[in-house]
Amino acid sequence: MSTEDKPIGVAVLGFGNVGSQVVRIIEESAQDLAARIGAPMVLRGIGVRRVADDRGVPVDMLTDNIDELVSRDDVDIVVELMGPVEPARKAILSALEQGKSVVTANKALMAVSTGELAQAAEHAHVDLYFEAAVAGAIPVIRPLTQSLAGDTVIRVAGIVNGTTNYILSEMDSTGADYTSALADASALGYAEADPTADVEGYDAAAKAAILASIAFHTRVTADDVYREGITKVTSADFVSARALGCTIKLLAICERLTTDEGQQRVSARVYPALVPLTHPLASVNGAFNAVVVEAEAAGRLMFYGQGAGGAPTASAVMGDLVMAARNRVQGGRGPRESKYAKLPISPIGFIPTRYYVSMNVADRPGVLSSVAAEFGKREVSIAEVRQEGMVDQEGQRCGARIVVVTHQATDAALSETVEALDDLDAVEGINSVLRLEGTTE
Ligand code: NAP
Repeated sequence: MSTEDKPIGVAVLGFGNVGSQVVRIIEESAQDLAARIGAPMVLRGIGVRRVADDRGVPVDMLTDNIDELVSRDDVDIVVELMGPVEPARKAILSALEQGKSVVTANKALMAVSTGELAQAAEHAHVDLYFEAAVAGAIPVIRPLTQSLAGDTVIRVAGIVNGTTNYILSEMDSTGADYTSALADASALGYAEADPTADVEGYDAAAKAAILASIAFHTRVTADDVYREGITKVTSADFVSARALGCTIKLLAICERLTTDEGQQRVSARVYPALVPLTHPLASVNGAFNAVVVEAEAAGRLMFYGQGAGGAPTASAVMGDLVMAARNRVQGGRGPRESKYAKLPISPIGFIPTRYYVSMNVADRPGVLSSVAAEFGKREVSIAEVRQEGMVDQEGQRCGARIVVVTHQATDAALSETVEALDDLDAVEGINSVLRLEGTTE
């Protein structure tokens, strides 16, 4: 590399948790980055809302005029770290249309606008990279798009939301109920003031959409992802799960399915599920993330690490930035979006999974057989039943709880069964219906 090498100009949009770490690494590692890229990387400006001289960078590096910064002739790559969908979408589209490569960590945007942005990148022959949008520091987008490009991915299943994993881990290890585990997560800064996007599974669904799109070469958006959050998971569910040798995790599952007629389909879904303690995802605790990929030739691969946080996320952003910069130095671009397969999305009703159903029942003879009969009528085969007597605060018997674990059944058959159980006189209430993942019986 000579000192005359044309520098690669970078604009960073956003100077928050992630943006400030990216700026720090660009500044502190300038020499190493230049050697890896083959040209110096120069920060041209930082887009923010609040321009002030107390932000730890020279004030003339800051601007609230995003359009102007993106349009500068000396900016080759735009790193978008503002979130959420707007104004990020407009800024990214404008950058791509002006022939600049883009790196983003914006999962919310990538899960809804991937087609539009990918087409703009394609049209301009530039890179659009988003490794940090799924599972923070963990490399999973690049392994799927590059390392496994010659294999056939069958399944991607993961814990991709640290907030909910922290809450569920707390409930499991301390016996806390959902509300106090959420309060703990908030106090420690793991949950946002409005935790809806995390606890209702929207964040995980956005990531599932991105993973499914890449793994199966099919455009999948967040609206295609079946979603359930964790707000209804109870401490009693954890007690029952333990007795069954399981824990409970919020899983994002993307699967390639083959119908009886031999047609391939894609399923993408997010829900809390019982996971056997022997499964690799069961031991992923606290705010950590993990993704298990199953491919035809490679078999099972597991990726584990920090799924959020300024510095870990900045690591993934920097990986993309260096790749995009190298491509520009070499006058090319990296692998582009691959959506050739266009597989149909399978509705949740057709997906066979195992189920856990917990219900309160009258404590009298014959109840168990009437409950079992409702499963039998809909050909939902029972794998295991547990009946627990319940006691009130005075220690008096006050009904019973039945927990049923099924073999594989479709969501449609199970929903019908649960409705029928709810109508039985002997059933006082259905407490929980959760899926059981990680076993195939
Ligand atoms: P953040 O701390 O809230 O920072 C956002 C930054 O964007 C702030 O500097 C803000 O400016 C700037 N900004 C927001 N709206 C703007 C606007 N309209 N015009 C100009 N600047 C604007 O966010 P973050 O946690 O760094 O997250 C950034 C992105 O990374 C998001 O898409 C997020 O989903 C994604 N991500 C974050 C993590 C993580 O752990 N934090 C992990 C993975 C992905 P001011 O500073 O002036 O307010």
